[in-house]
Amino acid sequence: MPHVFRVALDTPLRRLFDYLPPTSAGAAGAPAPGARVRVPFGRQRLVGMVVAAAERSDVPPERLKPILEVLDRQPVLDAAALELIVWAAAYYHHPLGEVFAGAVPKALRLGASATASEERWLATDAGAAAFQAGEPSRAPRQRALLGFLVQSGGASTAELNERSGTWREAARALLAREWIASSELALVSHAGPTIVRVPGPALLSEQSMAVDSVAASLAQFGAFVLHGITGSGKTEVYLRLIERVLAAGRRALVLVPEIGLTPQLLTRFRARFDAPMAVLHSALTDQERLGAWRDAFSGHARIVLGTRSAVFAPLPDLGLIVVDEEHDASLKQHEGGFRYSARDLALVRARHAQVPVVLGSATPSLETLHNVATGRYTLLRLQRRPAQAQPPVLKLVDLRATAVQSGISTPAVLAIERHLAEAGQVLVFLNRRGYAPTLLCTACGWIAPCRECDARLTVHLAASRLRCHHCGADSPLPPRCPQCGFTVKSVGQGTERIEQTLGSLFPQASIARLDRDTVRRRGDMEDVMRRMASGEAHILVGTQMVTKGHDFPNVTLVVVLNADQGLFSTDFRAPERLAQTIVQVAGRAGRGSKAGEVLIQTEFPEHPLLTNLLAAGYDGFARAALAERAQARWPPFSRLAALRDSARSADAALVFLAEARKLARPPRGVRLLGPVPAAMAKRAGRYHAQLLVESADRGHLHGFLDEWLPHVEELKSARAVRWSLDVDPIELF
Ligand code: ADP
Ligand code: ZN
Ligand code: ZN
Repeated sequence: MPHVFRVALDTPLRRLFDYLPPTSAGAAGAPAPGARVRVPFGRQRLVGMVVAAAERSDVPPERLKPILEVLDRQPVLDAAALELIVWAAAYYHHPLGEVFAGAVPKALRLGASATASEERWLATDAGAAAFQAGEPSRAPRQRALLGFLVQSGGASTAELNERSGTWREAARALLAREWIASSELALVSHAGPTIVRVPGPALLSEQSMAVDSVAASLAQFGAFVLHGITGSGKTEVYLRLIERVLAAGRRALVLVPEIGLTPQLLTRFRARFDAPMAVLHSALTDQERLGAWRDAFSGHARIVLGTRSAVFAPLPDLGLIVVDEEHDASLKQHEGGFRYSARDLALVRARHAQVPVVLGSATPSLETLHNVATGRYTLLRLQRRPAQAQPPVLKLVDLRATAVQSGISTPAVLAIERHLAEAGQVLVFLNRRGYAPTLLCTACGWIAPCRECDARLTVHLAASRLRCHHCGADSPLPPRCPQCGFTVKSVGQGTERIEQTLGSLFPQASIARLDRDTVRRRGDMEDVMRRMASGEAHILVGTQMVTKGHDFPNVTLVVVLNADQGLFSTDFRAPERLAQTIVQVAGRAGRGSKAGEVLIQTEFPEHPLLTNLLAAGYDGFARAALAERAQARWPPFSRLAALRDSARSADAALVFLAEARKLARPPRGVRLLGPVPAAMAKRAGRYHAQLLVESADRGHLHGFLDEWLPHVEELKSARAVRWSLDVDPIELF
């Protein structure tokens, strides 16, 4: 047995901890890498993961303690998942123990078994003989149960429950006579034949080409970008590829930004495949998550569908990874300690596993398009929509040149009227929930501020509350100005107000609203979808939520109420995000057989971003935007890492970063920018600041971080702040 084991523990310390082998070897024996162990840590006992075994430790032997207990006979992480976790900890410069903790369900961290076991019932030989002899002749329920177990060769508790609600009593009697027996069996994977329930439609030629080129490389790594306009049949391509992978006895991992927002995707997978699926996302209870993870781990699940952290799900015989909506910011964890991009990790995992990865999107990120341009990724295009569906026509509405009523311009009103008259449905998009973003006193100019943030409070009229969308502060709506006593007025538009305005403009129309205020519980979303699908609702008003994944075949008009929020942001990614939002929401129009129309309201119709997008589409926009990034040396033409912190005072936040900067000895080619206060410095009572590290060379950047961070960690001022490192940040504030 090796002399020491290196264990990752869920602590913020950037190192592993050495332990001696367990004193009583026990049934489990020496722990393998990837197995969990219980160890003493200070006065606590923690569950950690063995990363490696070693001959010697740098810690003096008398200070080493033995492992208390080995929890797993087999590693809870297969070699591939373990390798990914180790890789991620190094790349994101994050403590391995915390990465591990973020990668497995909480229940496992607390010591739950990694495999589910199942109670099974069998007839004994004596039981079989008794049954042959016609026993038990006077207890029909017992006889039926015994007969079933003899003939079926055994059954699980679940199967017996399904057959009858009263079998337990009979089972007890049979057990007492030793005619049957029960046992706990670990659930084993059954890679049974998978059945495609209903074959998909005949593929269009572009779809077949896409399927064929990925399928040609199923046994090796390859990165494919499936760039297809909304409704061009990307999901159908995923389904066909998964079908091939399953037929080869392998498994597929599908990552999506948010499952709650794409119930239709799940339904489509279930409708297509008669194969066990595991679904992993943040809205699961701990038990549900453990169950889904176990299904993935045991291999029972043939398809794992999940959000970000599912990229770490163990999955034997992985054959394919799909990342849907690869441009979506939700695939990046940008809060908390361990910040990672599930899309980027999916690529690493695919490379390790030697399987293809497909990145799908109607609006691929500029990073991804750059990787296509440099030949690292293979581009697959879908430019047509199946059936008669036409790509929508986009038009700008100049807000300065037309009458505007509560945020809705006359051309938009007329267009809505026309489409409703032709029995089309209308989608109205505004990326702001609530009634109005500002509450203003018309006498003294007072504006309702959030005490904890550099932000205004949003009016929620129906609820009669003022709420902060940054920290969650919530107070009653004041009837008059708290400063001078005059009446107050709601200024600007939110979805709640737009819903009201549309209601008075179109009294005959039924209006639905989709935003975080209307979808609070499970089922709310499905409800809105159902109202739209049945045609009961004529107009749908919503935030970003309406841009994602839903298929509304009868929507013929999309109105973007305010395109201007993203035009003048300080974040270099804002134009990309705006273009993606517009193209995504526009894609909701005309998915059925009727042609779609898209109106974009703006005060800046000459802005090059908008004119370019309309004239040259997303491709044209992306070309121009990449040229700008190259000039300014922003990613993907450079690499970034952001050292961020927050503190109780603006000074403390800056002091730590300034000291960190002073410690830095950046090599040539690595630049430090800052520290600067965040654009919204005060949030939830804390002051935020950041220091950027930039380099054209990834190796140089990471070499520098490796050398620098251990010193940063030691700074005394580090203890006065909360800090984190964000490698490849996607939001700069
Ligand atoms: P995307 O994922 O690109 O938005 P989908 O795969 O959801 O596109 O396809 C859009 C619609 O077209 C769906 O209703 C789908 O069933 C249908 N569809 C996809 N491919 C075909 C095809 N080859 N023939 C007919 N209908 C198709
Ligand atoms: Zn006032
Ligand atoms: Zn606030």
